[in-house]
Amino acid sequence: MEEDNPSFFWIKSEGQQKLATENLVPGNQVYKEKLIIKKGIEYRLWDPFRSKLAAAIMNELEDFPFENKTKVLYLGASTGTTVSHISDIVGPSGIVFAVEHASRVARDFLDRVAAYRKNIMPILQDARKPKEYFSVFGKVDVVYVDIAQPDQTEIAIDNCEMFLKKDGYFFLVIKTRSIDVTKSPKKIVEEETQKLKAKFEILQTIDLHPYDKDHAIVIAKFSG
Ligand code: SAM
Repeated sequence: MEEDNPSFFWIKSEGQQKLATENLVPGNQVYKEKLIIKKGIEYRLWDPFRSKLAAAIMNELEDFPFENKTKVLYLGASTGTTVSHISDIVGPSGIVFAVEHASRVARDFLDRVAAYRKNIMPILQDARKPKEYFSVFGKVDVVYVDIAQPDQTEIAIDNCEMFLKKDGYFFLVIKTRSIDVTKSPKKIVEEETQKLKAKFEILQTIDLHPYDKDHAIVIAKFSG
């Protein structure tokens, strides 16, 4: 990962270089993250223990396709921790279509995150029914999936086929600690990536340890 990637920043805090994004909504915190002003610009520290995308950056993520103007489809927005940082990065000319089906979490996400950020389009839908996301227009540059469902790879592929542009990037968070304790994390990741091979080029698989002991992220490119 390049040190001078303009999408995120390394800011000194408490004697350490920490990951941060430029706050799109100055003064606004999403998950009590620290806000730091440097040369008149406000940054939000991006906690790799709270966001798996931040953990992937800490663990040598090679391709970072999120930048100014990027269009993203994000499945499993939850309360918006990671979505908020992606919203910072893609900026006012980018957009994050954020799908969440659980109404209680979605309410929190709407009130605390989406209401303040015009580049987030919240979609209260089941990711199994991509035909019902009426607000998604055109194709997106990146599909990011973190819905913690046993059939999420299949759901993710359906969403990519509908919305991801050719050569677009796909991020899939995989739970490596299965209920089936006989399967090793490596085997679980292998089984999921196998399902992608027909339509994706696998670029990287990242174990999120020590930030997250139970997940890996697969990054792939969509051949269409
Ligand atoms: N990505 C989030 C982050 O980094 O801040 C955390 C996501 S959390 C592990 C998984 C989320 O996916 C939950 O909020 C859950 O309600 C949502 N989810 C699960 N199944 C879903 C589905 N079929 N459609 C939409 N959202 C779903």
